[in-house]
Amino acid sequence: THFGFTNVPESEKESRVGAVFSSVAASYDRMNDLMSLGIHRLWKDHFVRSLNPGSCLPAMTADQRGWNILDIAGGTGDIAFRMLDHATNVNHDMETRVTISDINADMLAEGRKRSLDTPYYNTSRLDFVEANAEHMPHIPDSSVDLYTVVFGIRNFTDKQAALNEAYRVLKPGGVFACMEFSKVDNPVLDGIYKRWNFSAIPLIGQVVAGDRDSYQYLVESIERFPSQEEFRGMIQKAGFMIPGQGFENLTGGIAAIHKGIKP
Ligand code: SAM
Repeated sequence: THFGFTNVPESEKESRVGAVFSSVAASYDRMNDLMSLGIHRLWKDHFVRSLNPGSCLPAMTADQRGWNILDIAGGTGDIAFRMLDHATNVNHDMETRVTISDINADMLAEGRKRSLDTPYYNTSRLDFVEANAEHMPHIPDSSVDLYTVVFGIRNFTDKQAALNEAYRVLKPGGVFACMEFSKVDNPVLDGIYKRWNFSAIPLIGQVVAGDRDSYQYLVESIERFPSQEEFRGMIQKAGFMIPGQGFENLTGGIAAIHKGIKP
């Protein structure tokens, strides 16, 4: 059935998610462009600008140079390369480094391949780690300045565990930043958006990537993800301080950026 993921038990979910991303790794960008009409690029640029990686951090010690960034579910490197470009070009910072962490080896391989076309390939500013975001014993406590997770956390089996892990690895004063599909606040836009998601996306998936089920799963995972307010509550529960409202809606709430600060 087209709804192959609906009744999948949590225990099986992880391997299913793995299969989805292995199957979409190569066509990933083209699909994102088609599905979001190119808007995901604007969101990602905005996300990175709002974090201003490589700028002076209040939590930074006098002898620290650059930021230590952990990009979780970083897959193909989309966010990581943008952050490094921003640090380099906007803040003239050549020290900031990003660890791209992802549970899926195929996505990481795609990211590694793409890094060949960047100035960061084979430098100390970029590395790749295969890990489950819910459990990262290889990353020490209080070692990270910025933790990013973009269009990733809704696929995690235990989201609260991932948030707790984010809290653990961040330094005091460190920033948690998440961009994820969210709940649309306008009923008219929501109607259009739901029709797009439930009819166009699986069809695009079938025609362009030859894989309807994976894209059907992605749509369902968007539906199941908590509201802006619920998710903010989970971030708070992990121990984070919430700056201001705690989230920013993008394109009427189709996506939202959540932030938290480790006290
Ligand atoms: N951040 C990238 C972007 O925005 O283009 C990639 C997002 S992609 C939609 C979601 C990624 O989450 C996939 O690469 C997948 O392998 C990864 N992922 C899923 N579950 C994970 C987990 N438990 N821990 C770490 N990564 C996970």
